[in-house]
Amino acid sequence: MSDLRELYQELIIDHSKRPRNFRALEGASRKSEGYNPLCGDKITVFLELENDRVKNVGFQGSGCAISTASASVMTESVKGKTLADAEMLFDVFHQLVTGKPPAAGKTPELGKLAAFSGVSEFPARVKCATLAWHTLHAALQGEGETVSTE
Ligand code: ZN
Repeated sequence: MSDLRELYQELIIDHSKRPRNFRALEGASRKSEGYNPLCGDKITVFLELENDRVKNVGFQGSGCAISTASASVMTESVKGKTLADAEMLFDVFHQLVTGKPPAAGKTPELGKLAAFSGVSEFPARVKCATLAWHTLHAALQGEGETVSTE
């Protein structure tokens, strides 16, 4: 378990230092902003949708290591997914970081998202980890205004 933890920590540090898809998308059809006043994390999520799929996704912003790493892994996780699958991943991720067991019938492929399971032990960090996902959700719903974790 401690080896796994170290691996997870490395993944989070790596993604916070070299966030993937850290850019504004020229062809973005949706854009949402998120803010976590508890920590000061700010994020803008850009979405390019094609039919019912996330064709491309990017983000920009500034925040703590957890919020940046979570946004980076989020973009990797939802790229190419259908909107329904992206929303389901959000649900699953939210359950993971709040320490709730996954709902019956859901057998998600967590992949790199599993690295954030340790967040559930730090309630103050849950909002850092979920900010990018809340903002993605708003963009998927077509809500343009800024979302806040408060
Ligand atoms: Zn934070």
